[in-house]
Amino acid sequence: MNDQKFIVNIVQLPNKILREKSQDVVLPLSPEDVHLAETMIYHVEDSIKPNSKFRPAVGVAAIQYGIPKNMFYVYIEDGFGNVIFRDLLINPKVISKSNALIALKEGEGCLSVKESDPNQKGYVKRSLRIIVEGYSYFEKKVVRHDQSNYVAIVLQHELDHLEGKLFIDRIDHKNPWKKEKDLYTI
Ligand SMILES: [Zn+2]
Repeated sequence: MNDQKFIVNIVQLPNKILREKSQDVVLPLSPEDVHLAETMIYHVEDSIKPNSKFRPAVGVAAIQYGIPKNMFYVYIEDGFGNVIFRDLLINPKVISKSNALIALKEGEGCLSVKESDPNQKGYVKRSLRIIVEGYSYFEKKVVRHDQSNYVAIVLQHELDHLEGKLFIDRIDHKNPWKKEKDLYTI
C-alpha cells in the first residue's frame, strides 16, 4: 500500500480535544470518513512492523487524530503473526460488561500519553468481558463482538477515547498497584 496518501498526526496530552466526547458517524461513510478509516488501518498495522516510524499500537481512535468521530480500529496479533482480533468499529455501543475485573500486569499505555509523562503506571481495572455492537467497516453491517481478557481490555481502552476518557483516569494514583482480591491480572 502506498503510505504517501496517509498522514498520521497523533494528538497528545495536554491537548484538550482528547477530553471531547466523539459524535456518531453518518452511514454510509463519506469519502472523507473512508480515508480516515484507511488511515487508522494503515497506521496501526504499520506500527507493529519492524522499523516502523510509528510507536507500536494495537488500536487507535479517531479522536487521537483530533477528529471527534465515533470510530476506532483494533488490530491484535499473537506473537506468531496470527490475527486475534481485527475490526474497525463505527458508532460502537456497549451491550454489557462483566462485573469481574481484569488489568494488565504492566499497566496500559496510549499513543496520546507520552511515555515520559508521569503518573501513568498502575493497574487499569476493566471488565473482564464485554459485549459491543457497532458497524464494522469490513463487514459493512452491524456486528456484535463478545470478547474477554486482553481483547476486552483494548476494546474498553478505545471505547473510553470516544467518551473523552484516558487510561490514566482509571489509575488509583495514591496506590497504583493495589491488587484487590477479585482483580485478575494478565
Ligand atoms: Zn489510547
